[in-house]
Amino acid sequence: MQENFSLKPYNTFGVDAKAKYFAEVSTTDELKDVLSFSKTNTLPLLFLGGGSNVLLTKDFDGLVIQLNLKGISEEVLNENEILITAKAGENWHEFVMHCLDKNFGGLENLSLIPGNVGTSPMQNIGAYGTEIKDIFVSCRVLNLKTLEIALFNLKQCQFGYRDSIFKQEGKGKYVILEVSFRLTMKNHRIKTEYGAIKTELENLNIEKPTIQDVSRAVINIRQSKLPDPKQIGNAGSFFKNPTIPLTQFQELQRKFENIQGYPNGDFVKVPAGWLIEQCGWKGKQIGNVASHKLQSLVIINATGEATGKEIFDFSTEIINSVKEKFGIELEREVNII
Ligand SMILES: Cc1cc2nc3c(=O)[nH]c(=O)nc-3n(C[C@H](O)[C@H](O)[C@H](O)COP(=O)(O)OP(=O)(O)OC[C@H]3O[C@@H](n4cnc5c(N)ncnc54)[C@H](O)[C@@H]3O)c2cc1C
Repeated sequence: MQENFSLKPYNTFGVDAKAKYFAEVSTTDELKDVLSFSKTNTLPLLFLGGGSNVLLTKDFDGLVIQLNLKGISEEVLNENEILITAKAGENWHEFVMHCLDKNFGGLENLSLIPGNVGTSPMQNIGAYGTEIKDIFVSCRVLNLKTLEIALFNLKQCQFGYRDSIFKQEGKGKYVILEVSFRLTMKNHRIKTEYGAIKTELENLNIEKPTIQDVSRAVINIRQSKLPDPKQIGNAGSFFKNPTIPLTQFQELQRKFENIQGYPNGDFVKVPAGWLIEQCGWKGKQIGNVASHKLQSLVIINATGEATGKEIFDFSTEIINSVKEKFGIELEREVNII
């Protein structure tokens, strides 16, 4: 247990907020011990995995727990499928690479997403045509009130676009201890429909891609488009892509001919990056904070000195200008603490 602890190395924005108490736990028993400390001292709790989806807007006057539970296990389900379970503290990308080394398919499109396995259900992480809900079986959680362990299946997790029960009514009630996925051992489902993957595979001269080829293509695309948090503080996409009614979209189309949208029934998903760019934010810097020059959806700690409050205020200005120009209210994807 450490006191007055700087969280700068523990969040990918590189914000220098302090935790009143900080503990790193490697076993469920250690977790229970620190939870009982927080109960005795009535401390608010904050769990951290890789810190790649949080914005710390102020010092945290409670106990921050970094979950370091490690371990991966396998159970063959049938001649084509395997159930693979990873503990919360496993690094997500290393876990994906581990599965690809064993030729287990299903996670390849989710290569190079920062963060830990235990956080992956929080917002149903997704990229390049795949979300974890596509291969998710269950997650084991600890109920923070009763300290009982429970298993949440796919349905109970209520996954949506960058959403789950853990961001809604389950918020702050559970800590995820491990996650299980159903992967293929052969007859892999190769997903290359997502435009950029096809183009990248062509660039690599690959006609019949394997799951490892898809992962390589995804890694190449991500490295060319997204800033590396080790070099410049960021938390990936700061906002969700808004979904608006078709009628509102059609109205906007009359005003903005080039507006992009992906129809889904009576609704249309509009790329937040496009909306932000149209408001002139791409590459724009105010003080220590900027919108990234290649991807306006990504807010960066441009000087490395930004406070969480500055980043939050910057994001509010973006929300206000998109609302004013398009009448669309952007929602933050990053967890604001
Ligand atoms: C460069 C970059 C690219 C990204 N690209 C993508 C992308 O393509 N797709 C995507 O979906 N996301 C993306 N993200 C966002 C982020 O990587 C994911 O949301 C990731 O799952 C966050 O994991 P983490 O361990 O870092 O979470 P943290 O930031 O540590 O935590 C996120 C939230 O979960 C809570 N939490 C942490 N661990 C647990 C636990 N075990 N149980 C319960 N609650 C917990 C925290 O309190 C916090 O509220 C990107 C981020 C960056 C920096």
